[in-house]
Amino acid sequence: MIRFLFLLLFTTLTFASSVDRYRWENGETYLVFLEKNALPIRPLYYNLDKDDQRLTEEMRTGVHYQILHSSEGEIEQILLPLNDELQIHIYKRDNAYKFEAIPIISTTKTEAFATKIVSSPNYTIMKETGSRKLAQIFTASFRNSLNFKNDIRKGDDLVMIYEQKYRLEQPFSMPQLKAAMIEMRHKKHYIYLNDDERYYDEKGHEVEGFLLARPVRGARISSYFTKRRWHPVLHKWKAHLGIDYAARRGTPIVAAGSGTVIWAARMGSYGNLVKIRHSDGYETRYAHMKSFRRGIRRGKRVKKGQTIGYVGTTGRSTGPHLHFELRKRGRAVNPLRVVQVTTKKLKGKSYKKFLKLKKAYDKELDFHLNSATKFVKKPKFQEQCFIHFLSKEK
Ligand SMILES: [Zn+2]
Repeated sequence: MIRFLFLLLFTTLTFASSVDRYRWENGETYLVFLEKNALPIRPLYYNLDKDDQRLTEEMRTGVHYQILHSSEGEIEQILLPLNDELQIHIYKRDNAYKFEAIPIISTTKTEAFATKIVSSPNYTIMKETGSRKLAQIFTASFRNSLNFKNDIRKGDDLVMIYEQKYRLEQPFSMPQLKAAMIEMRHKKHYIYLNDDERYYDEKGHEVEGFLLARPVRGARISSYFTKRRWHPVLHKWKAHLGIDYAARRGTPIVAAGSGTVIWAARMGSYGNLVKIRHSDGYETRYAHMKSFRRGIRRGKRVKKGQTIGYVGTTGRSTGPHLHFELRKRGRAVNPLRVVQVTTKKLKGKSYKKFLKLKKAYDKELDFHLNSATKFVKKPKFQEQCFIHFLSKEK
């Protein structure tokens, strides 16, 4: 602690202006943040359009953000990362504070390691890498398709190939599993991320998941999930944190998974909205509904595939469609990565394409297995100036 204080003093004395890194506190809201930093609420919140206002709700506990202070200690710029692609940029120009959403510049590296199973895959990966996230993406991808409880044998092999994003030399955001192999009772099991963004086993069977692929039967996807996208008309960066399914007004919407309804009412730009809480911190949202199905209300248990309402265009919507969101512990995730059909098997051309991709991955997996590739630990972030003057006084 003393060393941090010393560094803090040192940096503030040495440089005219300083960039300080902070952690978004538990329960902190964007409005509280503005107030805490004596920033004007009107231009930085109330004058923003609905979409930008909604973006400010995406800040999550534990996220690190930066503030650039002038030599006089005044706030010059703030960067608040919303997800791994988009950030809020607050900056001072002509004595006024401005708001914009801008992309986060990052690089992506493909990494891999091979290890021997010591206990559960979760424990094994944690022990090898120290990364909870890597353990999570592994177990989540094999979800329901393998029985990790009974068939795990000490000394068997496990290989993982994944992509990791880096920003300022530091890994950040969820890594993405590309391919993995786990040996169980001397039988090798594989999983591959196909170019349709879904996971398949070595036979081209889609790995079984707990949610339905489509909450509206036969509907066409009119807008995909994106953490950032350039809006050509409005000339600004936006995010689309769900998937839009275009369908005729009145088409039934079904629950993507079993769970409990935690919201069935109007909610701002979402219009008529249903929120369902599922297991493991998952939540699905169904927006712009024309109406709810009778009996769908808070506290109601619903089953996967059960009708919960009907397609409409309430709230901020330009035509009848379902805006479908999937959240994991509050954070928006791409439904196509998690939501899976239970019976899909690749056929024909797409199967041939998958086999090619699989072959390339198999070669890589074999290579890492045979050369016993070790996980490379990253150096810790150089913490120069982490401490918030305000929060220290608390
Ligand atoms: Zn949408």
